[in-house]
Amino acid sequence: MQTNFSLAQLADPHVAESEKILRKCVHCGFCTATCPTYVTLGNELDSPRGRIYLIKDMLENGRPADKEIVTHIDRCLSCLACMTTCPSGVNYMHLVDHARAHIQETYRRPLLDRLTRAMLAFVLPYPTRFRAALRLAKLGKPFIGLFEKVPALKPLGAMLKLAPASIPKTSPMASPGLHAGQGTKKGRVAILTGCAQSVLDPAINETTISLLTRLGVEVVVPPGEGCCGALVHHMGREQAALASARQNVDAWTRAIEQSGLDAIVITASGCGTTIKDYGFMLRLDPAYADKAARVSALAKDITEYLAGLDLPEPVRKPRTIVAYHSACSMQHGQKITRQPKELLAKAGFIVREPREGHLCCGSAGTYNILQSEISAELRDRKVRNIEATGAAIVATGNIGCITQIASAAKMPVVHTIKLLDWAYGGPKPEGILEESLVAAE
Ligand code: SF4
Ligand code: SF4
Repeated sequence: MQTNFSLAQLADPHVAESEKILRKCVHCGFCTATCPTYVTLGNELDSPRGRIYLIKDMLENGRPADKEIVTHIDRCLSCLACMTTCPSGVNYMHLVDHARAHIQETYRRPLLDRLTRAMLAFVLPYPTRFRAALRLAKLGKPFIGLFEKVPALKPLGAMLKLAPASIPKTSPMASPGLHAGQGTKKGRVAILTGCAQSVLDPAINETTISLLTRLGVEVVVPPGEGCCGALVHHMGREQAALASARQNVDAWTRAIEQSGLDAIVITASGCGTTIKDYGFMLRLDPAYADKAARVSALAKDITEYLAGLDLPEPVRKPRTIVAYHSACSMQHGQKITRQPKELLAKAGFIVREPREGHLCCGSAGTYNILQSEISAELRDRKVRNIEATGAAIVATGNIGCITQIASAAKMPVVHTIKLLDWAYGGPKPEGILEESLVAAE
């Protein structure tokens, strides 16, 4: 694509990066076919190619964002299916991240939208605040219908709908400390305790630590870790995202320098995509660029890490039919497609892949709150495809997808690690009936 940026504009490294990305696009439109918002809404401006044109126009003319561009960029899920499809290697992720930061700087949203976004940024990345908000949400549940009737209050209604009926207890394993591996030492890793996941389902990281230590891997929870920054990053709040990134880089750098790390294990693929991008996000900060690149190189999804271990024979051979839902951040963001399915199959599960596996389930960070109608359409489409597999359980590697799919599916939805842990001798995952785990011959 031809671009017309002035030399003065290109002196801004963010603009220079976006110009490089724009020049790679050859307008072929292949990406439109796999874009969930184009598939759902049928509008070229809600396709990757349409958004690329809008972003180019805004940046080239040095214009503040307007209502039209904000509407179409807000509808983008950042699922990155377009990056998997694009034959020209267009880095849509970095382009839309730049556009979102530009929108945040130059566009004044309506008051309720501003308040909702400020509240999400204030609450979600902090487990204590998030836990308190979930308690409050219980009081608001009877008013869901009322909120859903007023367009500006729909996000509040969506939030209340997604809030779980009960909140699990805080896990002691989320506290900084060391979990020694059993038997011959196979490795040493840090684990990201995270934010929303540690409140909604602390058992995911507990199970991960339990399985890894049984396999001989030492697991450290370094002091100072926090939210990865993805939630605010996708809202264009660049400074907040970079502050989270720096905080984690500092925490993991101390752990690397103290006793070394083989990997930084992440159990939420949405976080994994962002942490693997820290090197890029902090490239312009001389004090952090190298450290952030080192952290990104060490970041691994738990299934990526387990696939590199010499696993023993599983203790149980379940033969249960499992539908594997590949989160967008897993398959498009990190290009991890093989490992989770192979691990489940090796552990004795019969793995089925739902149709249209490339399409997002509509979770996408805060998307199911801020764009609840498109999100619900995508969720229902995803659940129909999952249920058509005839599986007894859904496995996936991202807490957002678990919450989203579980809100409409009839079968249990669990993190992949819980099924693997069970097959390798761990306890039965909570919330799954015994008959869901028995052999399906
Ligand atoms: S990130 Fe997803 S929703 Fe956004 S343009 Fe690409 S395919 Fe479409
Ligand atoms: S597939 Fe790639 S090159 Fe083609 S229009 Fe989409 S982004 Fe541009």
